[in-house]
Amino acid sequence: MRHFAIVGSGPAGFYTAEALVKAYGDAARIDIIDKLPVPYGLIRFGVAPDHQSIKAVSKRYEKVADEAQVRFVGNVAVGDAVSVADLRDLYDAVIFATGAPHDRTLGIEGEHLPGVIGSAAFVGWYNGHPDFADIDPPLDGAAAAIIGNGNVALDCARILSKTREEFAGSDIVAHALDALEASNIRTITIVGRRGPHQIAMTPKELGELGHLSAAEPYVDVPDFPDASADEALDPGQRKSVTHLRDFAARAHDPKPKSVRFDFFARPVRIEGDGRAERLVVERTALNEEGQGVGTGEHYAIPASLVISCIGYQTPRIEGVPYDDKGGRFANKDGRIDDQLYCVGWARRGPSGTIGTNRPDGYDVAEQVSAAMPPGTDGGKAGGTGLDQRLSAAAVRSTDFDDWRRIEQAEEAAARPDAPREKIVRHADWLKLLGH
Ligand code: NAP
Repeated sequence: MRHFAIVGSGPAGFYTAEALVKAYGDAARIDIIDKLPVPYGLIRFGVAPDHQSIKAVSKRYEKVADEAQVRFVGNVAVGDAVSVADLRDLYDAVIFATGAPHDRTLGIEGEHLPGVIGSAAFVGWYNGHPDFADIDPPLDGAAAAIIGNGNVALDCARILSKTREEFAGSDIVAHALDALEASNIRTITIVGRRGPHQIAMTPKELGELGHLSAAEPYVDVPDFPDASADEALDPGQRKSVTHLRDFAARAHDPKPKSVRFDFFARPVRIEGDGRAERLVVERTALNEEGQGVGTGEHYAIPASLVISCIGYQTPRIEGVPYDDKGGRFANKDGRIDDQLYCVGWARRGPSGTIGTNRPDGYDVAEQVSAAMPPGTDGGKAGGTGLDQRLSAAAVRSTDFDDWRRIEQAEEAAARPDAPREKIVRHADWLKLLGH
């Protein structure tokens, strides 16, 4: 028998469990450990609440959790309730699937002013992550700036733009829905340090901005290169740029809110009297390497809410070597060290779609099964040993049945037009379970 611990229950964790079940059949036991009492990581807390079709992938993960060889062990923080050294002792291999839930920093003056938040915090707030449920983003001003030209920037702009009715069918949490409905923000500026050809936004997500009932997208025509240059783009990027060209060319409906794309603008500092009031940027031009370099021209974008959507990093865990530059665990093709592996964003950094994590899981399962073939025994205590250590440390873990009870309670509490009303506080989850 072989025993494996997967740390993190988001997509990368579940794909790895699925791959290990396929590789080992009944010759392995797999614990998926999460610091939160509930599973699914990025699917529950990252994917936008109005993208329910993407969230539906959790049904596939549910099947993995139902496999007899697999356990979900929630409410256990690795590095705190249990150490990496403990896990190495208890399991044949430990696979980190901890994602990249921390914001990268801008490194500019004023980024710690009230009103400046990272996308992990803002997304966590509207998705009901317990760490961010109480951040109370300031929505009292008239203008917000969103830094970054990726899909997360689009998510944040769209969430700030939608009406209550447009959230029908979503699982946005009630505290965010109420606050957004009362929001005074009318102008949302998406700030990119390069141009329309360099965006990291995908066509479907960009296209959604063109169909909002109360917000209209604006792009400045002079920001585009000649239309003939679009032919050199790959088909997906060309589609995205075509959306931007459509936004620039369309007859704009008068709507209460506007989403303005401000390209070639490098954030320089955030200013304000005790709170964010404006984002100062420097106009850029592309150099031969395609990087945006400052032109010396500065201007200010009014913003009492500044959300930086410039990418994420993996939190460090004691006992796991770290790659500072990449913001992820130091690894070679998913292998960190003897017995230690990583998958997903903790391995590659924060890029790609949910499905990109699947090959990572299968690749690591292959490496693990080559190193310790099915049918061999490593003499490890596995989950039984973990349970003993947790109970000695008075840590109450949750299992998949506990999650099902939480899920049922969330579904029962849903607004008429929503799939669930998420429970967002640690204490409330544990109270429901009688812990
Ligand atoms: P991303 O795609 O890497 O985009 C980050 C953006 O931030 C880029 O435009 C980058 O510009 C900019 N940036 C980085 N550092 C900056 C700085 N110091 N100042 C100004 N701008 C800066 O990251 P993301 O939006 O966080 O998305 C992460 C991953 O999740 C992506 O693979 C994304 O596609 C995926 N995702 C998908 C969906 C969906 O499919 N619906 C939704 C959300 C996220 P440069 O290009 O100039 O570096």
